[in-house]
Amino acid sequence: MKIASIQITHHQLPLDPPFPAAWDTQPRHKFPATIVRVTDDEGRTGIGSGDALYGFHDYAHLFIGQDPRHLDRHATVLDNISFHAGRCWPLEIALWDLVGQIEGRPIWQMVGGTGKRIRAYASFGTHRNAGDSAAVAVTAIECGFPALKLRFGRLRLEDDLAVLAAVRRAVGERLHLLVDCNQGWRMPWDVQPPWDYARALEVAQELARYGVYWMEEPLHRADYTGMARLRGATRVKIAGGEGTREIHEFYTLLERDCLDIYQPDVAWTGGMTQLRKLAQAVVDAGCLFTPHTWGNGIGLLANMHLTAGTVGAPFLEFPWDPPLWTTARRDFMLSSPIEIDSAGTLFCSDAPGMGILLDEAILARTLSNTARYV
Ligand SMILES: [Mg+2]
Repeated sequence: MKIASIQITHHQLPLDPPFPAAWDTQPRHKFPATIVRVTDDEGRTGIGSGDALYGFHDYAHLFIGQDPRHLDRHATVLDNISFHAGRCWPLEIALWDLVGQIEGRPIWQMVGGTGKRIRAYASFGTHRNAGDSAAVAVTAIECGFPALKLRFGRLRLEDDLAVLAAVRRAVGERLHLLVDCNQGWRMPWDVQPPWDYARALEVAQELARYGVYWMEEPLHRADYTGMARLRGATRVKIAGGEGTREIHEFYTLLERDCLDIYQPDVAWTGGMTQLRKLAQAVVDAGCLFTPHTWGNGIGLLANMHLTAGTVGAPFLEFPWDPPLWTTARRDFMLSSPIEIDSAGTLFCSDAPGMGILLDEAILARTLSNTARYV
């Protein structure tokens, strides 16, 4: 059994109205997606998505002709590629999807089989005003979500806190509230420094007053000392790791007691092979593993299978911020969007791999680039 071809296509979904992402000073007029398809010599195709796979053309020959079932080998080579060039982990997701089809097993079973369901938290992506935030938070309760994540980072901290106060007033104790400070996140054009420890502590103390469940990325992702100090100084749980690139960095974060909540995204870092082991190490250390998923539905599915099938989590990120960020926009490449049930639960299917059905018509309409390796 051999890998016969790898196809990488890039797509741009026009966004009208544009999406004003809270973590980006520039409104987004397009939503890009990379679709990776790995086909074996018997005609089965595994699908992945995530990073753009910059630089992959130099390394495609390392996979063509290989047995797709040698997942540990592929993960090692991909880890080496991320040392030399870009992060090509969507290929690893596609390989797991392909091997699932070869073996007739869903990925949630392949990674451990612990479970196939996980509750979702509504993850906002914009800075809306206090009244609108409170209204959408009430809608989140009606939809069944057990938790909601707000974005900080408005011009003034008072404005962020006013939103948090309004949401807490509106939802009472019916939702866990999470706050993403995005201080580990940098756009290429960002030049201002992230918060320092004093600022992060000031915000943490405010969040504690509102009973916030976790504070996400309060400091730069490399400030291990600051994160560990902050964790010891506040009741609020400290979350992070979505932008951390290398798997060994997560083990250092664990050794130094930096975080309560670990959030690597399987589409960005480590792939299934490395993260299923990290998930167990995180739980063994008494912490929670619940990945970042802000991307598209394929990445969400991959993180669902990984988390539900291994250690589980109280809830998993579900990008949702209607009307500006809907499941239809997020999952445009899928034949139907991924939705929660009335209790806010996501279910992994029992179909082999991830059971992905692509919407080929919209992928054709949004295509901007194709690369194919044989
Ligand atoms: Mg985040």
